[in-house]
Amino acid sequence: MFWNEQLETIERKALEKLQLEKLRKALAAAATTPFYKKVFADNGVDVSRITTLDHLRDLPLTTKHDLRLSYPDGMVAVPRTEIVRLHASSGTTGKSTVIFYTAKDLADWADLIARSMMATGTTRNDVFQNMMGYGLFTGGLGLHYGAERLGCLVIPSSTGNSLKQIELMKDFGTTVVHITPSYAMHLADVVSENGINPPDLGIKKAYLGAEPYSEGVKKKIEGQWGLDAYNSYGLSEMNGPGVAFECEYKNGMHLWEDYYIMEIINPDTGERLPDGEEGELVLTHINREAMPIIRYRTRDLTRIIPEKCACGRTHRRIERIKGRTDDMLIVGGVNVFPSQIETVLMNVPEVGNNYQIVLDRHNNLDRIHVRVELYNKMFEGDIKALDALRKKVVERLKALITVNPKVELLEPGSLPPSMGKAVRVIDKREI
Ligand code: ADP
Ligand code: ZN
Repeated sequence: MFWNEQLETIERKALEKLQLEKLRKALAAAATTPFYKKVFADNGVDVSRITTLDHLRDLPLTTKHDLRLSYPDGMVAVPRTEIVRLHASSGTTGKSTVIFYTAKDLADWADLIARSMMATGTTRNDVFQNMMGYGLFTGGLGLHYGAERLGCLVIPSSTGNSLKQIELMKDFGTTVVHITPSYAMHLADVVSENGINPPDLGIKKAYLGAEPYSEGVKKKIEGQWGLDAYNSYGLSEMNGPGVAFECEYKNGMHLWEDYYIMEIINPDTGERLPDGEEGELVLTHINREAMPIIRYRTRDLTRIIPEKCACGRTHRRIERIKGRTDDMLIVGGVNVFPSQIETVLMNVPEVGNNYQIVLDRHNNLDRIHVRVELYNKMFEGDIKALDALRKKVVERLKALITVNPKVELLEPGSLPPSMGKAVRVIDKREI
């Protein structure tokens, strides 16, 4: 099902032509902002000379630090009276950054979300419960207006208050939810504790995003709720959600290339990598009036899936985000991503819904402590079985990180549940 078949299945050549036109407009607008005026002057960039898409690689990269430097409005390209809304990033890695939108920007964003939702088969007949934070965070209002544009009945329930969420699901027959993966797992537990089998609620689809998660977590959520889960990717610097979304084939996320130009770079050298190779995603927003951002380093690690998708959309897909360049943990000299630890844990069937990684340093040696919740039934058996399980988890983690991890098995509900973005890693080491 297509929202805009012509744009979604556009021939690559025509798409590139459209990208170039929009890029030139975005560059001209960027060149009027205090931030890019200076950056372009310092780097000898004359935007009128950018006449092919390939020239893009000659332009400097923009970082989150640049956004902070130009805070609050050094990248704004329109008069203040044209701006109708602002949002801010969650601030996972420091002071949040602010993004501005004109009325057209908001309408275009809603259109892109409607397109993304329809690509998963959602229609105006669906009841959409949006369990992402409403407010400065883009996840709430972003999907909200897109779902209304599509014509769904929207329940703006926001995060938290699990009992209320369940009541709304029951009373209004929710069919599609938007939720963080960590909260989806927690909520499944609350539903069960209230004597309801989650699949009996009849939810058909979940849009999972806002934080990195493994394929194992996706499968677990699909099993717990009896639904299809679709990966949803976005970041406030690029509007928010709707940058890339899985279609009904659930096999990588189509990145909407009529709004964004994507590149994959080697995060250490900045060099552009060919399709298929893993690296850092760099995005240029070519469809925003208020705040054009050129070659933004997302810090998210992924790769472009070069193969065509069976759905017929020509916009290339990206693979599940492996993590952020700045989430990489160095434990005893070995580089590991929390997502790799999660993959190990999720391959152990007894592991429940929540875990935490605590790092500290003792006598100059890094120590890693993995705290994992199990399913309740594990605590009804004998102590020996638990100990064997603990050893199994230790062995599997050790194969990944070489350092001997301390593993603690916990009863469900022992760790703080997460409603918004989960905090999985607690690093107590002093640098
Ligand atoms: P912050 O950068 O402060 O967390 P945002 O709210 O803009 O602010 O979050 C965007 C980030 O969230 C992305 O850059 C990415 O790291 C993460 N993210 C969003 N969606 C996904 C997803 N589907 N999979 C993995 N990570 C995601
Ligand atoms: Zn597809």
